[in-house]
Amino acid sequence: MGREDEKLSAVLGARTAGPLGKLGLHTVGDLLRHYPRRYGDPGTLTDMDRLALGEHVTVMARVARATVRPMRSRGGALLQAVVTDGSHELQLTFFARRPGALRPHEDKLRPGRTGLFTGVVSEYRGQRQLTHPDYVLVGVDADDAEEAMFEASRPIPIYPASAAVPSWRVQRAVRTVLDPLGPDDVADPVPLEVRARLGLPDRLDALRRVHVPTDAGEWQQARDRFRFEEAFVLQAALAQRRARAAEQEATARPPREPGEPSLLADFDARLPFELTAGQASVGAEVARELARARPMQRLLQGEVGSGKTVVALRAMLQVVDAGGQAALLAPTEVLAAQHARTLRQLLGPLAEGGLLGGSENGTRVALLTGSLGAAARKEALLQAASGEAGIVVGTHALLGEHVQFADLGLVVVDEQHRFGVEQRDALRAKGRAAPHLLVMTATPIPRTVAMTVFGDLETSSLTEVPAGRSGITTHVVPAANPVWMDRTWARVREEVDAGHRAYVVCPRIHPDPDVGTASGAGAAAEFDDVPDFLELTAGEAASDRPPLRAVLEVADMLRTLPQLEGVEVGVLHGQMAPADKDAVMARFAAGEVQVLVSTTVIEVGVDVPEATAMVVFDADRFGLSQLHQLRGRVGRGSAPGLCLLVSTAEPGTPAAARVEALAETTDGFRLATLDLELRSEGDVLGAAQSGRSSSLRLLRVVKDADVIETARREATAVVEADPELHHQPDLRAAIAAQLDEEQEEFLERA
Ligand code: ADP
Ligand code: MG
Repeated sequence: MGREDEKLSAVLGARTAGPLGKLGLHTVGDLLRHYPRRYGDPGTLTDMDRLALGEHVTVMARVARATVRPMRSRGGALLQAVVTDGSHELQLTFFARRPGALRPHEDKLRPGRTGLFTGVVSEYRGQRQLTHPDYVLVGVDADDAEEAMFEASRPIPIYPASAAVPSWRVQRAVRTVLDPLGPDDVADPVPLEVRARLGLPDRLDALRRVHVPTDAGEWQQARDRFRFEEAFVLQAALAQRRARAAEQEATARPPREPGEPSLLADFDARLPFELTAGQASVGAEVARELARARPMQRLLQGEVGSGKTVVALRAMLQVVDAGGQAALLAPTEVLAAQHARTLRQLLGPLAEGGLLGGSENGTRVALLTGSLGAAARKEALLQAASGEAGIVVGTHALLGEHVQFADLGLVVVDEQHRFGVEQRDALRAKGRAAPHLLVMTATPIPRTVAMTVFGDLETSSLTEVPAGRSGITTHVVPAANPVWMDRTWARVREEVDAGHRAYVVCPRIHPDPDVGTASGAGAAAEFDDVPDFLELTAGEAASDRPPLRAVLEVADMLRTLPQLEGVEVGVLHGQMAPADKDAVMARFAAGEVQVLVSTTVIEVGVDVPEATAMVVFDADRFGLSQLHQLRGRVGRGSAPGLCLLVSTAEPGTPAAARVEALAETTDGFRLATLDLELRSEGDVLGAAQSGRSSSLRLLRVVKDADVIETARREATAVVEADPELHHQPDLRAAIAAQLDEEQEEFLERA
């Protein structure tokens, strides 16, 4: 078995291992997977009579003399060596705080020894010198001059490092660990026949090539192999997950026969609109899968406003008709409450089963969130446990141990990107047989992202929005232009006067000047969960920009604005009590509040058809997908939507490009791809799902689409041939290690 689990402290000693630990490197495997960020150019051999100042040079020379002496003026010590090619001399200078630290150099740089010296030429008192040069000595670091040349001509790996652990120390540690390893010491999760078929080097070989390449071709080949490996391990894990889920038993929930009393039929009969072709065909697909005794595992992705809720509700009703219950999970309390309200509204009397005036086939929709009062909570728990509620809507609280269902047949997870794999599993474990699973994503996602993040699910897409929508017009408003800002509020007023409503979105809650930018734990509390936002501002040096607009400040400002005189302005953000949130949403839906100033809590799922206008402050500081989602809150009814993106971005910056892209298209798939291209993919995966980020080091979900497709094909074949991977212990171990890592991250986040 491999040696990659060995502790670095045991292999390198505590003094070297300690600082590496600060980089998160604790085991041999951690260090070997700490790949170079880039490679330095070793430089070509330079003649010593042509050493130009400021140039990066490599010279072959002999040590003439070397002396260590204290530095009088500055304290510390100085090693000066002089090397020669026979006719010219060059000085090498090393500084240290203590003379002892120079000892290793002094020991090596003995007069008479020959070597290759690399560094940038500077001048000191008329003498050419290299400060802290890299060097390779013949007889010490290399057997002969030829080998020294060879060593010195390798690309120089540059590692992700810190001040405490510079790259060269990482490099030395990697060599110490890597050099003595043999083929049996390194586990290879990619099976031999897969490697052979694809022409990939084995893992030890690849490690050597990535850490100690002889030329650029080598590290590139190695990097490609590691990218494949990452994708392969992930896809194998997903293939196993699919295979296991497919083996589980589920209760078949077939639809009622035509003519039989049916909640679903009653619902369809009272729907005020026709299903779109997409809703009908996805609905039929889902209906078939629910009728099987194997758990459905389906991802439903759809354009914003494409009507996923109706598809989900129809699936839930089929399950209720068949005697089961459905649970609907939402990422926030606001959204859960909103869902419960929407479902009750769509169902009308059908949601009043057992009540006076309710329908005979009716059922109940229970809402169960963490903040319910004791009595309401008891009632909801009872309805879930007794089966009286055919539909139970909630947040994470639904995952609580004490929530019991009479017969849970279907789990619908809305806006999946806030839910991890573990949460899906926890809920699935609640049914006696495995419940069917329908996952809905808020944002359309590129195919390979779906494969990576949701690779254990089959996918359906809704691409059309229902007819009769008038669409959304989007404009960018420069924040510094008072005329445009005036016009913005005038437009809001016009919408309100026409009987419509408007959202005003701000990135944060309190206008606290001390909070400054979006970094640090204190500041994070000022925002409702908006990882997109935090990442973007962190990466874009927000300090020299105007302070972010805050909900409370903007609401006050709007209340005194002449254009909005007589308009009722409400406030919504994540720090409000749940009852207050519900109340203001209800008043907004009813039209008692016409302008709602809020954080991104309204980002997903909120559905008020009369809302036609949205003003987003600091729009340039949000992620594209997030803006698209936000914008999807307006233009949901028959009146056209208007989205005004207030931006402080300088023209020509990436931030400006982001808002302009949004103004140009409403195609969610295009925007999602663009969004991925505009930022680092680690962020995307990290935000998309707990736990996938750390196991993907080199893989780029959009650019490496081919790699992911190939890996998926190969991994699926391997798992089909050997579902429990009895013959692939290394792959099995790699999957287990990855799961551990995910679980750890999940626990950290929870
Ligand atoms: P999303 O896919 O973004 O979750 P929703 O399910 O919230 O979209 O639907 C958006 C709006 O469109 C809702 O008001 C819903 O009632 C309405 N809707 C859904 N399906 C149709 C349809 N076939 N025709 C007309 N309106 C529809
Ligand atoms: Mg929705």
